[in-house]
This record gives sequence, C-alpha cells and structure tokens, in this order.
Amino acid sequence: MNLVLFGAPGAGKGTQSERLVRELGMVQISTGDLFRAAIKNKTALGVQAQSYMDKGQLVPDSIVIGMVDEVLANLNGKSFILDGFPRNVAQAEALGKILSQRNLTIGKAIFLEVRKEDLLSRLTGRRVCKSCGAVYHVQSKPAKISGVCDQCGGEVIQRNDDKEDVIATRLKTYEESTEPLRGYYRSSGQYAEVNGAQDAELVFQSVKSLLK
Ligand code: ADP
Ligand code: ADP
Ligand code: ZN
Repeated sequence: MNLVLFGAPGAGKGTQSERLVRELGMVQISTGDLFRAAIKNKTALGVQAQSYMDKGQLVPDSIVIGMVDEVLANLNGKSFILDGFPRNVAQAEALGKILSQRNLTIGKAIFLEVRKEDLLSRLTGRRVCKSCGAVYHVQSKPAKISGVCDQCGGEVIQRNDDKEDVIATRLKTYEESTEPLRGYYRSSGQYAEVNGAQDAELVFQSVKSLLK
C-alpha cells in the first residue's frame, strides 16, 4: 500500500518513514530531503528552493509537483511513502492527477497528531545526518557518539530552518496551508490519524496496523 504521511513540522514523519523503509522496504519520498540534496549539489532546483526553505515558506507548487512526478516515474513498482508532500490542497489535487496518469493509488493518508506545545522542543532539539538524513534528537534520541551518525558515520548537524525564528514561520505555514489537508483527505475517504505524541515505537505500531 502506498501512503501519504502528513502532519506539522516535527510530528515525526521522517522518523516513521525511516522505520517503514527499514522494516517494510518501502521507498521514502521526502520532498524536504530531495530539496536539501539539491541544495547540497548546487543544482538549479536547489537554487530555486533555498530562499523559500530558509524563510520557512513553501517552495512554489509547480517546482515541487514536477520533482515528485519525476520520482514517481522511477519507482519500479515499489510501495512508497510520501513524506512532506502534499503540503496544501492544490498539491493534493495535483497528486491525484499525476497518480492516475501513472496508474498508482494512495491507500491511506495518515495524519500524525502532535500538540503544538510539543512541536517546538522536538524541532529545536532535532539533529540530522548530513549524509543519510537519519533523524536524531538531543534529548530523546541522541547519536551514540555525539555529532556522528549511528547509521553511516556521517556528520550530525542542526538544520538551518530548525532555528526558533524560522520554526515560528513554518508552524504558521503549516496551520494555514497543510492543516486543511485533513478535511481534504477525510472527504476522499483515505484519511486516518495516529497519536504522534506516543513513543516513536508505539506510533510505528499504530501506523503499521493501518497498512493491513
Ligand atoms: P519538516 O519535516 O520539519 O516538516 P521538511 O524537511 O519536510 O520539514 O521541509 C523543509 C522545507 O522544505 C519546508 O519548510 C519547505 O520550505 C520545503 N518543502 C518540503 N516539502 C514541500 C512541499 N511539499 N511543498 C512546498 N515546500 C516544501
Ligand atoms: P518531521 O519529519 O515530521 O518534521 P521528525 O521525524 O524529523 O519530524 O521528528 C522531529 C523530531 O522529533 C526529531 O528530533 C525526532 O527524533 C523527534 N521525534 C520523532 N518522533 C518522536 C516521538 N514519537 N516522540 C518523541 N520524539 C520524537
Ligand atoms: Zn547518516
């Protein structure tokens, strides 16, 4: 089953995707990771995306949608998780069209619910591997050796947009643009929600139970 995983910044989309990839062999399509890779490689796409990301705003829909379509074209039949896309109703509508052109479907759109008060500490404490994207947290999930990725030995850093001033804009962007997706997916019949405030392992069990 193919999934959309959505929720506020810090809700745990990346963390849960990592597990779905590891345990179930699904393919993670994280638009945030794709943009960060493009920025690192100094591609035209990266140059276009960076100013929006640094400010905590959404990258324009046309850029994101084209990028996702390209990834979907190269899946070779593997089940996938859309992590961080769609992020507004226009993207969700575009996704519907791209999927039907490629004879693909989304089984469930899973909303990870976390209270706003908990998001701030998750985001300010988040650290990520520069090389493989593995997700850490200074308190709840520190790397075994500080600054070094457990998975690949890469450098573990704080994202530019995980600074408090940008976080505030990202949370506002979420409320205005992404939260309305709950209603969108409720009416499509694909909506499911999981309590994202539980321990990450319990969240994973709940997500997995929705795949049956
Ligand atoms: P988080 O996981 O904390 O929510 P992401 O890594 O998903 O953050 O996204 C980081 C930034 O990349 C966003 O703030 C936005 O600028 C850009 N971005 C990612 N996905 C999308 C999308 N679907 N549409 C527009 N911008 C996006
Ligand atoms: P998103 O991709 O939705 O922005 P992440 O998966 O990157 O969210 O998680 C944000 C931060 O919160 C990370 O530092 C991660 O380690 C931590 N985190 C994720 N899930 C949980 C959880 N269930 N309980 C506590 N902390 C969590
Ligand atoms: Zn790594």
